[in-house]
Amino acid sequence: MNASQVAGSRRRVVILGSTGSIGTSCLKVIDHLPDRLEALGLSAHARWEDLLKQTRQFQPRYVAATDAQAARALAQQDLPAGTRLLDGDDAIATMVCDPDVDVVLTAIVGTAGLTGTWLALEAGKTVAVANKETLVMAGPLVMELAQRKNARILPVDSEHSAIFQAMQSGAPREIQRIVLTASGGPFRGRKRADLANITPEQALKHPTWTMGRKITIDSATMMNKALEIIEARWLFNLKSEQIQVILHPESIIHSFVEFTDGSVLAQLSPPDMCLPIQYALTYPERVSGPARRLNWDELRSLNFQPPDLDTFPALALGFEVARRGGTCGAVLNAANEAAVAAFLEGALSFLDIPRVCREVLDQHHYSERPTLSELCALDRWSRQEVLRWITKMASSPSR
Ligand code: MG
Repeated sequence: MNASQVAGSRRRVVILGSTGSIGTSCLKVIDHLPDRLEALGLSAHARWEDLLKQTRQFQPRYVAATDAQAARALAQQDLPAGTRLLDGDDAIATMVCDPDVDVVLTAIVGTAGLTGTWLALEAGKTVAVANKETLVMAGPLVMELAQRKNARILPVDSEHSAIFQAMQSGAPREIQRIVLTASGGPFRGRKRADLANITPEQALKHPTWTMGRKITIDSATMMNKALEIIEARWLFNLKSEQIQVILHPESIIHSFVEFTDGSVLAQLSPPDMCLPIQYALTYPERVSGPARRLNWDELRSLNFQPPDLDTFPALALGFEVARRGGTCGAVLNAANEAAVAAFLEGALSFLDIPRVCREVLDQHHYSERPTLSELCALDRWSRQEVLRWITKMASSPSR
């Protein structure tokens, strides 16, 4: 291939959530592969100074800050001549619907990530999904939209990327089951009683991955793995019984796929998000990139153990929600998001995070085939229920 052919095949990428952990890793990949990738649009919420730095370095066609104050601050700055600052409600839509966009990486954490993913799929774009909450909340609707618009969804979550990579070795009908690996987070090996007085600072120290605050707390409660079970269920069209979780403290094996003949394939690499991000951006090709390599001289052992379902009840919630589907994902996702925010503010204890999620899930009016607007209404309801539960508990004399 000559130089002009390479330049012609450059993929143009929009990053929604460019200043977060995944967004910055994505820009590292793009920076490393200038012949293959180009940042066409960047969006962030409030961190406008980081966004400004990125804009000056990558000179995208579009930039947007979704927080009104950050957008005003950004508007005062000198932007590169070719960059257009988008504002207002249409900013993300304008960016992702540009006909030149090839891939949209959705890396906005939480329910807030749904809009961008939805718009990109409606525009028929390839979406690299780093926002697992979107699939947890509205998996069947998101997958159905992608199919209808002929849009491809590629996983960025390291476990789902590993499964997707291993799945290239067989047909979907040949998959017996998948095994999601979990580091176990900072509290692996602890018992329930040890976790009663955990502080946000303790929960924010992850042993193998450096990530944003919400997902780090989700890792500590193992709700992250619960959300990943649900994500895998929709993404790969599996039954919940086909999904298993195993603890693997080294975070080297990112998941397994077991095929009908008994063969098990895994994907291994050091814990570095640059690799799954790059695979989604260059798929189906593999190229040399910035991700760290395994050092076989240093690697001594890979360990496994079954998860402790008693200490980490969030896992059971994940299996249950994957099995029941319908409105359950939206409720669990929103309740967890509100509970994590309350925990970080000191308003909720660590063990109360899965407890309040269980309560809200059990109380909601289940429906099997909800619409998107029903899911959005349930998302709001679940958050209010969490706050109501916290208020009730705070005023209860027994606590
Ligand atoms: Mg993951």
